[in-house]
Amino acid sequence: MPSKCKTRERLASDTPDIPELPVGAIRGNLCFRCFSPTDKILKCGACRRAGYCSAECQKLDWKIVHKNHCKIFKTINELEEQQYQTTRTWSEYSSYILETVRSIRDAAPSDEVLRFVVQAQPYCATCRRSAVQLFNRKISLKRCGDCKLVFSCAECTTTPTHSQAICTAYQNYAAVEAFRIDFFEDTGKASPVTCTQFPLEERKFLKDAKQGWYDYFVKISDKQQIEPVIKPDFSGVTEIVGQVGTAEEREQPERMRMFLLCATDNLTMPLTILSALEDIEYSKPSLNIHLVGATGREFLALANFEEILHLNPSLKTLNITAAGPHSWAGDKASPYVPSMNLDCCPVCKSEGRTRSIASYRGVYHDFAASSNFAKPDLVVLFNSGWVDGDDAEKDWAPTIKLLVDQNVPALFTTYNQSEARHEELKLMGMNVKFVVEPEKNKWRGLVPTPEFIDEEYGMWYQNEYRYLIQGKL
Ligand SMILES: [Zn+2]
Ligand SMILES: [Zn+2]
Ligand SMILES: [Zn+2]
Ligand SMILES: [Zn+2]
Ligand SMILES: [Zn+2]
Repeated sequence: MPSKCKTRERLASDTPDIPELPVGAIRGNLCFRCFSPTDKILKCGACRRAGYCSAECQKLDWKIVHKNHCKIFKTINELEEQQYQTTRTWSEYSSYILETVRSIRDAAPSDEVLRFVVQAQPYCATCRRSAVQLFNRKISLKRCGDCKLVFSCAECTTTPTHSQAICTAYQNYAAVEAFRIDFFEDTGKASPVTCTQFPLEERKFLKDAKQGWYDYFVKISDKQQIEPVIKPDFSGVTEIVGQVGTAEEREQPERMRMFLLCATDNLTMPLTILSALEDIEYSKPSLNIHLVGATGREFLALANFEEILHLNPSLKTLNITAAGPHSWAGDKASPYVPSMNLDCCPVCKSEGRTRSIASYRGVYHDFAASSNFAKPDLVVLFNSGWVDGDDAEKDWAPTIKLLVDQNVPALFTTYNQSEARHEELKLMGMNVKFVVEPEKNKWRGLVPTPEFIDEEYGMWYQNEYRYLIQGKL
C-alpha cells in the first residue's frame, strides 16, 4: 500500500517535491489519494470526478484537497449539462474545455490540479460526451483494455476510437506515471537529482554530443554503465535484454530506462541553458541568470542546475534569480527574496565554486524597475507561452519589449513547433535579432506527455523547441 503518496502534501517546503496527480487517476484507474491502481474505483457521489480505492482514502482526500474542489466540480458539471449535445466534434469539445479551464483559472488562479482534472477528464472518444454527461443519462463508458486511458460509450462501441500508435503512446505514458509513483515511494522524491556527480576536470561541450542524450549520459556525464541498456535513439531496452533472461532480470534495465527518461525531464533546463552558453560563447568565471516566469517546475529543478558548474568547470559562480507571478515572495511587504546560497557537492566546495538563488514575485518588467535589479548575462524563459497565453498582452508584451531593448541574450523554449512559430513571427515584427532561430531542442525532455486542449491525443515535451535572441537587427 503506497504510504508516501497518500500523505504527500505533508512534505513541508515552499515547493514540495511530490508527484502530480496522474492522468491515470483523473481517468479513473488510480486512486486520487494514494495513486494505487484499482479496478473498482469509488467515485465521489457529489461530483463524480474524484475516485478512490477505499473509504479511508476518500476520507483523507476530502480533508486534504477535495473539500475545496468538490463544489466547484459540481458547478462545472451543471454547466456541462447546459451545453449538452448528443455529439461534438473535436474542435467543439476542445473549445468547450478551453473556455471552462479559463473560467476555472479566473476563479482559482493558483490551483493547477483543479484545472487539470477538468482538462484531462474522461470522455467518449467518438461522441465526445463527458463521463459526467453519460452518467447522467445512464450510458456506460468503457475504457480501452490496453492503454486504459481512452474511452468509448455504450452507444458508440462500433467505431474504432484510437490508433495503435496512440494506444502505445498512452501505454508508455502510463508506465512513466507508474514509475514516478514507485520512485516517490522508494525515495520520497518526485524529481531525481541526476547531475554528473562531480565537476569535470576539463570542460566538455554539449555540441559534441552528436547523439544527443545518449552521448550526454555516456560520453559527457558519468553514466557509462547505461551503454548496454539504452539504444542511442533512446527508443527502448535493447533487443538482447528484451529476449533473454527472466522477467526479473528484464525489469532492472526497464527501470533504468525509465529512470533516465525521467532524468531528461529534470536535466532539460540546465542542459538547454548550457547549450545556449555555448551558442553565445560565454566564458566568464561568473554567470548571472534570470529565470523569467519561473514556476514550481524551475524551483524543483534547482538541484540539477549544479550541472551548469559541473560541465563547465571554469565557471566558479552561478547566481540565479527567478522572477514571475509564481516565484517565491519575501517577507510580507517585499516581493523580493535576497540571494541565498545553495549547496554544492564537496568537490565544488573545495574548489571554491558557489551558487545562489534569489526570487522576485511579480512580472519581470516590474522587477527590472526595482532597486534589486541588475542586468543579467542571460535571461531564460522556459515554456513561457508568451504569445499564446491568456496573459500575452497585459503581462508579457512589456517584458519582451524590455528584454529586446536591454540587448541581453534571451533563451526561449516552447512546448511545440506552432508555439515557436507564433513567437518567431511576433519577434520578427519587432525586428529582433535571432542568435539561434527556432529549432527542435536537442535537450528537450524525452517524456511524451499527453495534452488535452490543442490537438486530440496530442503529446508535448519539456522545452521541445528553443531559440535565442539578442537585441535588434
Ligand atoms: Zn487509495
Ligand atoms: Zn466530489
Ligand atoms: Zn459515445
Ligand atoms: Zn488504448
Ligand atoms: Zn559540484
